[in-house]
Amino acid sequence: MATLRIEGAQMITMADGDTGVREGWVLEAVDGTITHVGPADELHPAGEPDEIIDGSGCLLMPGFINAHTHAAMTLFRGSADDMALEPWLEEKIWPVEARLTEDDVYWGSLLGCAEMIRAGVTCFSDMYHIPRAGVRAAREAGVRICPSGVLLGIVPNAEDMFEEAQAFTREFAADDYLCVHPMFAPHAPYTVPREMMERVIEAAKEIGAPIHIHLAETRANVEWSLENYGTTPIQAMDEIGLFGVRVLGAHCVHLEERDIEIIAERQVGVAHCPGSNLKLASGIARTQDLLNAGAHVGLGTDGCGSNNNLDLLEEARLAALVAKVREHDSTAVPAEAALEMATLGGARALFLDHCVGSLEVGKHCDCILVDLDAPHLHPRHCLASHLIYSAQAADVKTTIVDGRVVMRDRELTTIDLDETYAMVAESAERLFDGS
Ligand SMILES: [Zn+2]
Repeated sequence: MATLRIEGAQMITMADGDTGVREGWVLEAVDGTITHVGPADELHPAGEPDEIIDGSGCLLMPGFINAHTHAAMTLFRGSADDMALEPWLEEKIWPVEARLTEDDVYWGSLLGCAEMIRAGVTCFSDMYHIPRAGVRAAREAGVRICPSGVLLGIVPNAEDMFEEAQAFTREFAADDYLCVHPMFAPHAPYTVPREMMERVIEAAKEIGAPIHIHLAETRANVEWSLENYGTTPIQAMDEIGLFGVRVLGAHCVHLEERDIEIIAERQVGVAHCPGSNLKLASGIARTQDLLNAGAHVGLGTDGCGSNNNLDLLEEARLAALVAKVREHDSTAVPAEAALEMATLGGARALFLDHCVGSLEVGKHCDCILVDLDAPHLHPRHCLASHLIYSAQAADVKTTIVDGRVVMRDRELTTIDLDETYAMVAESAERLFDGS
């Protein structure tokens, strides 16, 4: 039995979305599960814990949840910028992805895990090729992964991809060490024809797995759907029964009123990716309208080809800022809402709010200590505001996943960065030299 106590920090629990700051509270965990969150004088006399972390001068809060990424795309960082989504995918990304090996995905994912841990991300939803390699990297890094094997219906090996996705999902559905409910990932309605999408829905129902899919990311996506399905991507997917399964929809930028109603009614998880949407000029999502409708909205960085980093705090700031510009309303997506999207909202979008997203007894001990000893975090009018509008990823001092310290005082405890950089450089050289 491994016991952990974190004391001396100010605390935001995010329980039920509460961003209030608690003073003098203590967190205890046993074998990675939170057993106490509250005033120190309410501690049960369980004896001295194995490890005590002094959080003095820090804010203790739930780790960030990256609800949509392609972690191994760190390999593509800076390789093709300043392009529109469709030519970017077709000319720059897919030809290189066709050459990826399991080692490439492993090292690219490990680099992504290092970057995310340093940015306070404790759980991420990954959609990528060779998902076993991504899971292996996440487990070695000690970060929680919600993996999904991507499948494309418009490539010659589409049937093989579908077979592999089924095998992967079945295998990992029963295997939950830091790996939570693997999903099917039909890439998008415009890349997976209706007939295959219907087979994916049936397979997901049979296995009980959720589906992770890009939805309504660009205007071109919507136009394609109008031409091919006669309606919007959300309504088309609703009509073919996609939302009869738990669905995590990445982007959801271009939405009609009816689309928003469907997303809220069917409890579709939304991964809002403002950085990627800005960089690819995809548009600005109707986040405040989604929140008003009661939709479950989390935040994603998307892959490093279109962002170009995995800094979820940056996404939270962008989410707050772009919503204000979109609505011409400076009260849209306030700091508290952005903070909730980065934590508990992400957990809801991933259907994991029963086990992560807030600091509550019974949940996994996934948390971070943010160092408040910085000029840009003084004076202390409002910590939720500081986190969203002023803090930086580098302010995250300690990252804990499942009760295990994976970064202590900015030092990673699970990943050899020099080795990772060297292996990633080797992969990148081979992949891009051939292009
Ligand atoms: Zn994506």
